[in-house]
Amino acid sequence: MSQTPELVVRGLHVAVEGKSILKGLDFEVARGEVHALMGPNGSGKSTFANTLMGHPRYQVTAGEILFKGRNVLEMQPDERSRAGLFMAFQYPVAIPGVSIANFLRTALNARLAPPETNGTGTVPARRGIAPKEFRALLREKMALLRMDEAVATRYLNDGFSGGEKKRAEILQMAVLKPEIAILDETDSGLDIDALRVVADGVNALAGPDMGVLIITHYQRILNYIKPHFVHVMVDGRIQISGGPELALELESRGYDWVREQQEEVETP
Ligand code: ADP
Ligand code: MG
Repeated sequence: MSQTPELVVRGLHVAVEGKSILKGLDFEVARGEVHALMGPNGSGKSTFANTLMGHPRYQVTAGEILFKGRNVLEMQPDERSRAGLFMAFQYPVAIPGVSIANFLRTALNARLAPPETNGTGTVPARRGIAPKEFRALLREKMALLRMDEAVATRYLNDGFSGGEKKRAEILQMAVLKPEIAILDETDSGLDIDALRVVADGVNALAGPDMGVLIITHYQRILNYIKPHFVHVMVDGRIQISGGPELALELESRGYDWVREQQEEVETP
């Protein structure tokens, strides 16, 4: 599908407050591919997501993450997103006073601005997308996601339901057109509406130009999004990888058999 995968994770070890959590994580996501990263609670899924986005509490002790051949760990968090890495947050913050439209235009302009004029304290040379052009883009994406245009004038996440927050997040993804999108759905138990919003959005946006990594404890969301690859993480590393059938097997058998396999490997 692709020569060099956009996102490459190799031998990643991460510690949180001195405790080792990721213990040699390896996998790759290329454009056009949909991957699911699954695993029991506490296996380290969110630790990986947080590390990827540069959360300062997560110390990488070994290994590397490459995005389009660049060392992600040396990039500032805003640089990572400008380069085309998108991370949907589990708990998106509300920004009263800032409309969705304004927020998205600012985010898009940051993504479009050339790196040398950005993040360095200097004023960007270009002003980015013209307001008229942006409105057309926003209208197109909202139509694609079957969203009511009036939503764009609402303050970001202010008083939003779980489903509405997810919708705003998916709209952000549609506007920014990341090359790799990571959605950590975690274990918070999205209600069925929110789940469908995410699934429909990913299905509408996924294509040859975007790679998607869905991080989830539950198989549920995979009833609506069909991943090409499924990885199961146990105790900080990927224990098994397979196709969509692996997710179904997890649904019927749970995670224990994966753990037992690991123990067999570790205690000969
Ligand atoms: P998952 O998302 O797979 O449920 P997490 O990555 O959230 O797993 O957690 C993996 C382990 O790391 C757990 O034992 C958790 O307690 C620990 N952990 C994660 N984040 C932190 C943190 N910020 N501070 C302390 N411990 C953490
Ligand atoms: Mg988690």
